[in-house]
Order: sequence, then structure tokens, then C-alpha cells
Amino acid sequence: MMKIEKVDLFLTSMKLVQPFRTHQETVTDRESILVKVTDDEGHSGWGEVVAFSSPWYTEETIETAWHMLTEFFIPTIIQGEWKSPQEVNGALLHWKRNQMAKAGIEMAMWDLIAKRAGISLAEYIGGVRKEVEAGVVVSMDSPEVMLSTIENRIKEGYERIKVKIDPANDYQMLKVIRDAYPDIALLVDANSAYTLKDVERLKRLDSLDLLMIEQPLSADDIVEHAELQKVLSTPVCLDESIVSFQDARNAVKLGSCKVMSIKIGRVGGLANAIDIHDLCEEHDIPVWCGGMLETGISRAFHIALASLLNFTIPGDLSASSRYWEKDVIIPEVVVENGKVKVPEGPGIGFEVDETYVKQISKRKATFHAKKKDH
Ligand code: MG
Repeated sequence: MMKIEKVDLFLTSMKLVQPFRTHQETVTDRESILVKVTDDEGHSGWGEVVAFSSPWYTEETIETAWHMLTEFFIPTIIQGEWKSPQEVNGALLHWKRNQMAKAGIEMAMWDLIAKRAGISLAEYIGGVRKEVEAGVVVSMDSPEVMLSTIENRIKEGYERIKVKIDPANDYQMLKVIRDAYPDIALLVDANSAYTLKDVERLKRLDSLDLLMIEQPLSADDIVEHAELQKVLSTPVCLDESIVSFQDARNAVKLGSCKVMSIKIGRVGGLANAIDIHDLCEEHDIPVWCGGMLETGISRAFHIALASLLNFTIPGDLSASSRYWEKDVIIPEVVVENGKVKVPEGPGIGFEVDETYVKQISKRKATFHAKKKDH
């Protein structure tokens, strides 16, 4: 039984090495909420809320997550005794949605339980890989800049490149990239920049031998993606549309995608992420790990998750140095020959540099379990 004595929240801000552009938003300073839970035996576990400062990716923000955690989720967790993180996930279901806020504290419980068991999180959840393949996302820019960035990433060992597209930057730009790199595993992410009116435009992309097109249509759609997938040979991948296990079931039932991206924050925690992985495996839908411009903590969870059997497509699992001057974990995530080693130490397998976390925190809060009278 895990009994939580203390929860610490750190609202951190880190500058990205390079601003990250999509057609919706440019992110320069990345805020995160880092969550530390400590049990009555002195073990601790870390999690991360990957909501952004503004609601451009999902409806959550750093401030809504702070509110949900402090008013609802932490009070739910801190008085209970927990057999498993799944049980925590179940308790949080009482509160609706707010998936990234829930995931932040649920992840910390997974790290904690694996540490208590003295094994790595990957082993704890049944991972089968010793290393996972890394892919990288290239920010939207002029074709010349993008080509030189891609060349550098390939030299660094990345074997899968993802490019952000919208109707103003699609076929022509991609053709330049494809002609320069005929064999590279190339995928595109539209972050909902298209509608069904763009079907002919999207069909043109079929000639570019793309690994997939991620989230072409609306973030809350599952039905129209099924219509689109019927007429595209390029596999459709759903990202923003899948924020729960039920969404994943609906997408599988309707044939809305041939690939699914799983992000632990977006789907409300690691328990849901594993369930979605298992569901997709049953239905021969390969999955991969998306990234959230996250710190090393969330990345460490994604590395563990990607060690599961059905993660057959390289994820957005880039090196810490792609994003940060200095990451919050020790050692940092490194990519060698296009691969990231799955750590073997207990829990997430990286140490969190708490001194540094405190330095970059704009706000902190600590919650203690109420002492019971004897
Ligand atoms: Mg995406």
C-alpha cells in the first residue's frame, strides 16, 4: 500500500534552445508543472504536467492544471492508500477530463511504485526493448533552412523526421524535402490545419511516400477522419483527437486512423496510455510516442512507454540538448545512432536535479497529509 505523505508542485519555466513554430503557436519559453510525491517510507516519485501556457494544443493550460491539482486531485490522492497507479487513475475519474493535470500526478505514482519495487518503470510495465528509436521534429521554416536542419539531424543519427504542415506549406515544401532525401522516413503533422474541403489537396501528398499524416482535421473529430482515411493511401494518425481510452475505441471502431500517437499527458496518464497501446495492438494499429516539448521527466516516461511491444514507429524522443541548455534530469537523454537507451535504474531511471528545479521555479507549493489522531 502506498500512502502519500507529501506532494510538491513546481511551476517551472525554461527557454527552448530554438523557438518552436507550428501554424497555431510559437513556443519560446516553456512552462511546466513538475510534481513530486513522497510516501510514508521516504520514497519519492516525479511526474510532469505537459499543458502549455495557453490553450492552443488542448483546452488545458498551466494555470487550469494548477487549479485542478491543488483544489481536487492532490486532496484526492493525499489522504488515500493506494495499491497501484491504476487505482489512482480510477479515483481521478471521479473528476472530469483535465487529462494533463491528472497525468502529472498519476505519473509520479508510477515512478514511486517502480522505485518501491526496486525496478525500472519500463520493466514494471512490461517493456520489451532495451533501446527505442528516436525521431525528431523540424520546426516550420523556409525550405532552405529546413533542408539544412534536416541534414544536421540526419548527421546526428535521427532516422525519422517529422515536419509541420498547413495549406500554405505542404506539397511544394515536402516535394523539396522528399527529392533531397528520397529514403528518409518522413511524416507530417498538420495540427488540424485542414478540413474535408481539402481532400484533393491532401490526396496530392499520397505521391510523397509519407509514413503518415498526423491530425489533418479538427482536434475534436473522429468521424470525418474516417471519411478521409477511406480516400487517402497515406496512413492517417490521430493525435489531438485521442484524449481518452474511449476516444481510441471509437477511432478503432470507425476506422479513423491506421496509426495512433500516444502522449501520456494528453490521454490522462500512463494507465490510459498502456490501455490504448494494448487496444491498438489487438487491432494491428501501430503506435508511437509523441512529444510535448517536455522536460526530461515526461520524456523519461515516454521512453519507458516506448519499450512496449506495439511501439513500432520511432517516437518524438529527441535528445535533451535538442530542447534545453540544461535538462532537469541527470543524466540527460542522449541519442546514439538514432536510438535512446531505456534506463535500467529504479523508476524512471533518471535522477531529478531538484536544486535546478527550484532555481527555475516561478511558483512552488507543498501539501502534507493531515496527521491522524491516535
Ligand atoms: Mg501532433
